[in-house]
Amino acid sequence: MIIDKFQRVHNYLRISLTDNCNLRCFYCMPDEAYEFTPASRLMQPDEIFSIAQKFSILGVNKIRLTGGEPLVRKDAGEIIQKLSTLPVQLTLTTNATRLHDFFSQLTEAGIRSINISLDTLQPERFLFMTRRDQFTLVKNNIDLAIQKGFHVKVNVVVMKGLNDAEINDFVAWTKDTPVHIRFIEFMPFSGNKWTSNKVFTLQEMLSVINKRYPTEALTNDEHDTAKAFTVPGHAGTFAVISTMSAPFCSGCNRIRLTADGKMKNCLFSKEETDLLTAFRAGKDIGALILESINAKYAALGGQMNTDFEHLHANEIKNRSMITIGG
Ligand code: SAM
Ligand code: SF4
Repeated sequence: MIIDKFQRVHNYLRISLTDNCNLRCFYCMPDEAYEFTPASRLMQPDEIFSIAQKFSILGVNKIRLTGGEPLVRKDAGEIIQKLSTLPVQLTLTTNATRLHDFFSQLTEAGIRSINISLDTLQPERFLFMTRRDQFTLVKNNIDLAIQKGFHVKVNVVVMKGLNDAEINDFVAWTKDTPVHIRFIEFMPFSGNKWTSNKVFTLQEMLSVINKRYPTEALTNDEHDTAKAFTVPGHAGTFAVISTMSAPFCSGCNRIRLTADGKMKNCLFSKEETDLLTAFRAGKDIGALILESINAKYAALGGQMNTDFEHLHANEIKNRSMITIGG
């Protein structure tokens, strides 16, 4: 088992397949002219499989593929197929722009639950936030995924003054549709122009929603990063990922692997462990994995506290979200 100093068992690995993406969400990929990592420095399908297998032997039983946009990788289908042979629950976070080409491969790989990002229900705002005119494609693919019976969670990064007025439009979507909305508090990463006054908190979201809807809290698993709710009678649910105002580090079971093979023991860690170079040199990556987890901080990578209102984003040492893998 992969256990840290605080007795947290780490059984959930998030693998970034690429730092490439066909959208340009400004809070994630700050620089339009960003240079993607060359393919030779990315983990190759066999390397992803072998490294993931090592994690699985050590106790990981859930793997999420992410990025960048995992489905822009030409060999995404091959990677998904290989990983589906491991004894893990395999899942995916995607922007849905290429989802229509992958439904049968996902089904064959046993993937029934998908997280999809969509921050606005307004096409013009989508263009502003992602710098690409793809709203209709994304929305149609989400609808298609739901029709095909996938359990769809929609990630919405809420930013004050930008899309917070749409919160109840997203909740309205859950009325007749079995869609699970996850509102995410805006988080600081390298270069993403985060300021504390753009964070729309869990409490603020609940106050907006409760003005229009009665809500009931749902029971959460100890590892859940989202606090889940339902509006009685609605087919879907909503949840809030309150990383900034009410973090959930005490139940953390997550490990991250960047597309260039660096292990991060926390989303906000400044330290990284280069598993890919060690793997290519024939070294035992198991020992490196356990060492990295043993060095994990109690909360937020040891770089922040819950007093986010006084946080200065430029003091945090980290990558941009697109190079970490959300
Ligand atoms: N391209 C895929 C997608 O957009 O779903 C997967 C990668 S993306 C980095 C994973 C998730 O991270 C998305 O839901 C995205 O909205 C979220 N994310 C990116 N930057 C963020 C930030 N600064 N604060 C909160 N969430 C963020
Ligand atoms: Fe691409 Fe996802 Fe980042 Fe948007 S959030 S730029 S879709 S990786």
